[in-house]
Amino acid sequence: MNDHRRCQETVAKLQTFLDRELSTDEVGVVRFHLDNCPPCEHLFRFEDHLRRLVKIRACTENAPSSLREQILARVRTSDLNRLTEGPR
Ligand SMILES: [Zn+2]
Repeated sequence: MNDHRRCQETVAKLQTFLDRELSTDEVGVVRFHLDNCPPCEHLFRFEDHLRRLVKIRACTENAPSSLREQILARVRTSDLNRLTEGPR
C-alpha cells in the first residue's frame, strides 16, 4: 500500500479542509483517511486546536501572523518528516 502518498495528500489538503473549502468528495476522502490514520488524525486535531488558539490570541493580543506562520511551518516540517520516514 502506498500509505505515505495518501498521508502527504491529506496533509496537503488539511488547511483547505479546515477552511471548509474542499468539495464534498474531497472532504469524504480526507475524513476517511483521518479516520484510518492516527498520525494524520493527530495532526488534524493539532492544526484545528492551533487555529482556535491563534484566533483567540489574535483577538486578545493582536499576534503577528508571522508568528503563526512560523509555528505552522515548524509543525508541518516535523510532521512531514515523520510521515515520510515512516514508522520506526
Ligand atoms: Zn495518514
